[in-house]
Amino acid sequence: MYKFLSISSKSNSLIRRHQTLSSLSNPSNYFKNQAGSKISSGTPNGYSYYHPFNQNFCFLWSQGGFKRFFSSGYVPNGSNLRRLDGRGSGVVNGRLFVRGFCSENSREAMEYDVVIVGAGPAGLAAAIRLKQLCRDKDVDFSVCVVEKGAEVGAHIISGNVFEPRALNELLPNWKQEEAPISVPVSSDKFWFLTKDRAFSLPSPFNNKENYVISLSQLTRWMGVKAEELGVEIYPGFAASEILYDANNNVIGIATNDMGIAKDGYKKDTFQRGVELRGRITLLAEGCRGSLSEKIIKNYKLREKSHAQHQTYALGIKEVWEIDESKHKPGTVIHTLGWPLDHKTYGGSFLYHMNDRQIALGLVVALNYHNPFLSPYHEFQKLKHHSAIKQLLEGGTVIQYGARTLNEGGFQFSLEEQLLDVQLAF
Ligand SMILES: Cc1cc2nc3c(=O)[nH]c(=O)nc-3n(C[C@H](O)[C@H](O)[C@H](O)COP(=O)(O)OP(=O)(O)OC[C@H]3O[C@@H](n4cnc5c(N)ncnc54)[C@H](O)[C@@H]3O)c2cc1C
Repeated sequence: MYKFLSISSKSNSLIRRHQTLSSLSNPSNYFKNQAGSKISSGTPNGYSYYHPFNQNFCFLWSQGGFKRFFSSGYVPNGSNLRRLDGRGSGVVNGRLFVRGFCSENSREAMEYDVVIVGAGPAGLAAAIRLKQLCRDKDVDFSVCVVEKGAEVGAHIISGNVFEPRALNELLPNWKQEEAPISVPVSSDKFWFLTKDRAFSLPSPFNNKENYVISLSQLTRWMGVKAEELGVEIYPGFAASEILYDANNNVIGIATNDMGIAKDGYKKDTFQRGVELRGRITLLAEGCRGSLSEKIIKNYKLREKSHAQHQTYALGIKEVWEIDESKHKPGTVIHTLGWPLDHKTYGGSFLYHMNDRQIALGLVVALNYHNPFLSPYHEFQKLKHHSAIKQLLEGGTVIQYGARTLNEGGFQFSLEEQLLDVQLAF
């Protein structure tokens, strides 16, 4: 254990996080998970991930004095603890830390300048930019990101054609810093499918100088960059509640309680959530975030901007490993038509990534008229189309997932912006 600690706390080595919510609730599971896999070669996506939580938690537990640990995952270790008074309040890393230990009815809280919900591209880009501004202006604002996936990137399923313009501005050295962006688009096809045939149409897209990437890998890499700049990332914890002050101003979020049985009974492993209070709270939950919906409702943001209602689509995606001879890295194909009928908005995508992998998916707008339509079964049909089947034959599915996308667009469905900036750079 100490060997693991000394490696993780002193070096910049990336160590894959193995703990899950259940292993966090049960420290012995956590240690079992760590045993024999102290430094992993990486995730299935090829990226390792490490979070300082591991070292802090291990440190406290190994000291034997802590029967309960902080459900935020962030606990003070010997070096960063400056003052902790008898009641458990104190200052950690210069931050106010209210209440020291979990108890059944109270929550501990930590104060940050900026609390960000969601470690997707938006949340991490915001965190990185804030820290860059701090560096430029020689100020030190604390920024934390809470992510409900077990690790950064775990909930990002987009196999993606990526336009690097924004990344060029944010992290101009991404090539030298080995961002997982290595497959330039080499061909861009657009097909109209009927049941038996594929008709080639001129592509409405311009994917010149874009890349085929795994967005999950890119967010993992961005997570590492954010941590290098001093952002604290807490994966494995969902923000489940918005905190308001007496004047109905947002003052942060609280993470979910853990260890509650299906019938609502508190198990032995029960852990109260933690409050992360921020001078600014930034919601970057992605499509139809649960807290974002609450905020939109509470402040009537749609009504205020006379925004149209948001519309959504469902994207179902599989990653296949296919035969080397059929694999052409950088090939991009989008399709319209079959298996969807002419009343249903949607289409498919097929991107050749590296390592013999392709991302294949179907996006179906969720305003379809036919109540019996099953996007999953339409996707199964798509894979049997003659133009696609021949590519998949002999291949293996290695990942799959589904996720909703906003379809409403920037121009019609954008709510009133809620901005109450109190940070001064
Ligand atoms: C199948 C599919 C294919 C796509 N293809 C492309 C493409 O080719 N090119 C392209 O540019 N875009 C594509 N997109 C869209 C792209 O994925 C999104 O635009 C992008 O991911 C949005 O980034 P985001 O950071 O706003 O949200 P997300 O990527 O959704 O990230 C939000 C993060 O917040 C976390 N989170 C949410 N709620 C909470 C909470 N309460 N507490 C803690 N954490 C929370 C989530 O786990 C997630 O990690 C595709 C999307 C899908 C689904």
